[in-house]
Amino acid sequence: MSEAALPSGGVIGIVGGGQLGRMSAMAAARLGFRTNILTDDEGGPAAQVATATTLGAHDDPAALRRFAEAVDVVTFEFENVSADGLELLASLRPVRPSGAVLRTSQDRLAEKAFLEGAGVPVAPYRAVHDRAELDTAADALGFPFVLKTTRLGYDGKGQRLLRDAGELDAAFDALAPHPLVAEGFVDFDCELSVMVARGLDGTVRCFDPVRNIHRHHILDLTLAPAPVGEAACDEAVALATRVAESLDLVGLMGVEFFLDRKGRLLVNEIAPRPHNSGHWTMDACPVDQFEMHVRAVTGLPLPPAIRHSDAVMRNLVGPEDMALWPQILATPGLLPHLYGKAEARPGRKMGHVNRLFPKGGLPGAFGVRDALGVLARADE
Ligand code: AMP
Repeated sequence: MSEAALPSGGVIGIVGGGQLGRMSAMAAARLGFRTNILTDDEGGPAAQVATATTLGAHDDPAALRRFAEAVDVVTFEFENVSADGLELLASLRPVRPSGAVLRTSQDRLAEKAFLEGAGVPVAPYRAVHDRAELDTAADALGFPFVLKTTRLGYDGKGQRLLRDAGELDAAFDALAPHPLVAEGFVDFDCELSVMVARGLDGTVRCFDPVRNIHRHHILDLTLAPAPVGEAACDEAVALATRVAESLDLVGLMGVEFFLDRKGRLLVNEIAPRPHNSGHWTMDACPVDQFEMHVRAVTGLPLPPAIRHSDAVMRNLVGPEDMALWPQILATPGLLPHLYGKAEARPGRKMGHVNRLFPKGGLPGAFGVRDALGVLARADE
């Protein structure tokens, strides 16, 4: 494919078979595209709704080759394809976002070095290749600080909060693979994110910044727009735009921020794919994050990322939340999305619910609880 837009009927290859692939495939179908999912999860969330599935592992060259040959353009819902795998895919088909973008986001040290180079603020950090460097990092950052794996961390996995020197040995041994990254503890006021899309022609579109609230290290609530004032929102959008442009992104990316108690924004991480904190757009925006993703990777024009309503997104996690499914369905105003996962294991994201409010009408904490009805948390 040249730099021209993919014609309708073209096949988008999506690496990864989870819910992000599922909702991307649904958006692709709406625009007249077909999809092929590379997954080892036969009948998983994405495979259930895609046109075709390539069964295989993302690190199996034969599977990657079969997959690439069956599609017109390759994108991802799963970022951790090996460097060799990315090279193989890129030798066969356009890969969007590019392998270079993925490699940057796969490795927290590469990510931080890139962000610093682009003039984007990040928390102070040190690379930790060996035990001695962990002591140096502790001296430089002071306690508490956070020690993380550089690769494959998600939903709080692969990280420890270290409170004193007595905890260093155990954390260094427990976290793998090395090297690790030590990050200064950010005493944040709240966490924000921006979904940014960039098209083949360089057009950048940012959805409004949102506030994210986690529970047991898993995203629980997203409040859209983030109730943090115009200055912080404008700066988050400017920084997300800078990240997308500096990476020469083609596709969609989530940029996660800490807003510290002095009102400064620091980028925590970037994810070059649709993102859980963008699910509110499915009901609150005429063009949602998944359509924006599909448009960007197929070379279609990117319409403005307009929000017609305010929204709260609540994740449905594990058996406790799924036990509420009948009541959710019976509650007017709760807009449910389910991912088609067979088993509701503890901590597993099974679906989400959006609740809309008139633009400008996002209520405060009490109002949000009230509006979520059966999904309100008793302990908050
Ligand atoms: P991450 O996997 O980097 O997104 O981290 C998961 C969660 O841990 C974040 O959403 C924060 O709530 C918390 N966290 C991560 N890094 C830091 C940090 N440097 N300071 C304070 N909290 C952090």
